Amino acid sequence: MLARAVTITRHHAPLPYPERTDSLAIEVQVPGRTWKAWLFPGGLLLAVSVAMVSSSLFTLLAPSVGFYYVAVFAAGLLLSWRFNSSRILFSLLVLLLAHRAVEFFSGGQVSTGPGRMVVVLAAILIPLNYIAFAFMRERGLIIAGIGPRFGILFLESVVVAVLCRPENSPSVAHPSGASIPPWIFVTFLAAAGVFIMRFVQTRKPIEPGFVWCLAAVFPWLQFAPVGAMAHAYVGTAGLILTASLIETSYMLAYHDELTGIRGRRAFNEALLSLDQQYAIAIVDIDHFKKFNDTYGHDTGDQVLCLVASRLSEVKGGGQAFRCGGEEFAILFRNTSAKDAFEHLDALRQTIQNSTFRVRGGERRSSDRAGESDRRRPARKKASRAAMAPPAAGLSVTVSIGVAEPSTRNRQPEQVINAADQALYLAKSNGRNRVELASSTPPRLTKSKRSTASRV
Ligand code: GH3
Ligand code: MG
Ligand code: MG
Repeated sequence: MLARAVTITRHHAPLPYPERTDSLAIEVQVPGRTWKAWLFPGGLLLAVSVAMVSSSLFTLLAPSVGFYYVAVFAAGLLLSWRFNSSRILFSLLVLLLAHRAVEFFSGGQVSTGPGRMVVVLAAILIPLNYIAFAFMRERGLIIAGIGPRFGILFLESVVVAVLCRPENSPSVAHPSGASIPPWIFVTFLAAAGVFIMRFVQTRKPIEPGFVWCLAAVFPWLQFAPVGAMAHAYVGTAGLILTASLIETSYMLAYHDELTGIRGRRAFNEALLSLDQQYAIAIVDIDHFKKFNDTYGHDTGDQVLCLVASRLSEVKGGGQAFRCGGEEFAILFRNTSAKDAFEHLDALRQTIQNSTFRVRGGERRSSDRAGESDRRRPARKKASRAAMAPPAAGLSVTVSIGVAEPSTRNRQPEQVINAADQALYLAKSNGRNRVELASSTPPRLTKSKRSTASRV
């Protein structure tokens, strides 16, 4: 089963479904380490940058800060263009324009007059723009996508230019001496709240990236609006956005979009770094076609998410991957197939005992434009079938085949084949079970032996 899928998907790897933006309600969470997504790379970059800026080393580094700033924005703009991300591209432009405006209007004086006004406007507009870009539909870099964003930037530039004229700017310094009046923090907090909420919904590293970017913008505007420190903070804010773009692209490349667990590419790479001892399990959902036909593909998708979420909790150091369709692989490093067996059987039982509720109906057919041909026949069948209303307490079972390297199966591909054979055995032995691949060569029957000896 999996061996066949390897050949199909290696050449063209279509994502099984277009990006999910609706809230199909399922009571499972996309697997992933939340704290890691929060701290890396944004938190780390900001911490390093703050440490540098506040250390005595900064006087040594100050001459090269201008280069850092230019390199970050050049790389960020180039990457966002290559990755077709208008959200990051325009967020970088906002940052760049805001910084240029502060430098231009302040003339080094930010406590009164146009200097103060431009800092206040930057503190209001940067978070608001980031919120607006988050909610604007990502359409890549086509004219219809970038036109409105350019429009917003143009309008804002005009407003800033008018409000920062000396006659429009207050000439009295704020009594606290702070660059930003405290009430303006609200825009930062509101923006952070929005990105945290979006992260909870989408689990995309780009959202924490925006929170950390604002966390770098804040000390820039509050403590060092102009000068080398300003270049360092703004450069870091841009670097955080660029890094979160790279992280998101990495996630898309190595993770399965539907379930959020590692995908086939990650599995193929993991196979390259295996030691002598390991075990590979192939997991297939039982009677999944029937499940789809009965409850519809959306419900089927949600079951896939449920199963993936359970698989990612496998004990014994196993790593779960979605290899395509409703087939998954679990890789156990430095573990024998026998040891993996008990963890897999526990997993099988957990899945058998898991029940879930589904809300929401079958998705409209127009939402399916991106699906692969492989699935179309099943889809027709599903739409013909009367969809049973999603019942409370749906559950599925899985069959699992597990194998390890042996004298006969030395290469990972052979181990996968052996696990696949074991999976067939699990299916033919009644499903909802785990089978261990036999490591000894199968006995040849008399007729086969004579054919073999002729060859
Ligand atoms: P068996 O117990 O023998 O495995 O029976 P089965 O019905 O599960 O048979 P098989 O594994 O061949 O069926 C695979 C089905 O999985 C067919 C297809 O409709 C469904 N499928 C594949 N990918 C997806 C997906 O991404 N989402 C949904 N909802 N269904 C999928
Ligand atoms: Mg299958
Ligand atoms: Mg199946």
